[in-house]
Amino acid sequence: MAAIRNIVILTGAGISAESGIDTFRGAGGLWENHRVEDVATPEAFKRDPDLVLRFYDMRRAAIQTREPNAAHHALARLDREWRGNLLIVTQNVDDLHERGGAERVLHMHGEHLNAWCTACDARPRWTGPLIDRPPCPVCGAPALRPDIVWFGEMPYRMEEIYDALRAADLFVSIGTSGAVYPAAGFVRNARDLDAATLELNLERSQGSSWFDESRLGPATELVPAWVDELLS
Ligand code: NAD
Repeated sequence: MAAIRNIVILTGAGISAESGIDTFRGAGGLWENHRVEDVATPEAFKRDPDLVLRFYDMRRAAIQTREPNAAHHALARLDREWRGNLLIVTQNVDDLHERGGAERVLHMHGEHLNAWCTACDARPRWTGPLIDRPPCPVCGAPALRPDIVWFGEMPYRMEEIYDALRAADLFVSIGTSGAVYPAAGFVRNARDLDAATLELNLERSQGSSWFDESRLGPATELVPAWVDELLS
């Protein structure tokens, strides 16, 4: 561990599960009783915008009632105390890393608390509903959608992520199933450049065999223990 300076941490829905936010792949492949294709694709939005807007309005309201857990707080402590480079790349669209106190956070799949204006490309902070087609605060057009990267769309800030992976000595994946690409491939990018790789997850993920080490258990236990170990 002494030689480690640059760390990339990938987080997924599992880190927020103990805060009461559902993960993606529940029993039967449904997400809050919806098929993913019905709510999380651009085609779904075109087909039935009211359904999609209502779904995200509910989730945007719900996350604001949830609190960061011990795993978010532990990563925030690592962010504060780690003197080398560190980047928390999250697939999560909640804001629990930030509310836990972390600053070096990159949301590759967008954020619930942003809207995106498809008319002028502004991304205003947004905490209320979108179902009534409110005007964009910048251009006035009723063209706001959730600022969420749907299936089939390009994740955000990929160059920055690959730069960080190229420089990483340690890659850690927390609470992600390893089913959603390109994030699921990051472990291989890091490995190819000789970074150490560690997985912290409730169960083995799909890419588990790519990691040097897998620790299995709830994030609220594994993450604080790992951060203590790294900082000690
Ligand atoms: P996923 O639902 O596919 O996988 C979650 C993983 O977390 C599983 O491997 C599961 O075993 C593990 N897990 C569950 N509870 C855990 C716990 N308490 N501690 C540790 N691990 C636990 O999630 P994903 O891999 O992030 O991919 C889903 C996609 O859905 C992402 O692209 C993300 O944008 C989106 N999503 C985000 C949120 C959120 O923002 N909180 C929630 C649901 C879905």
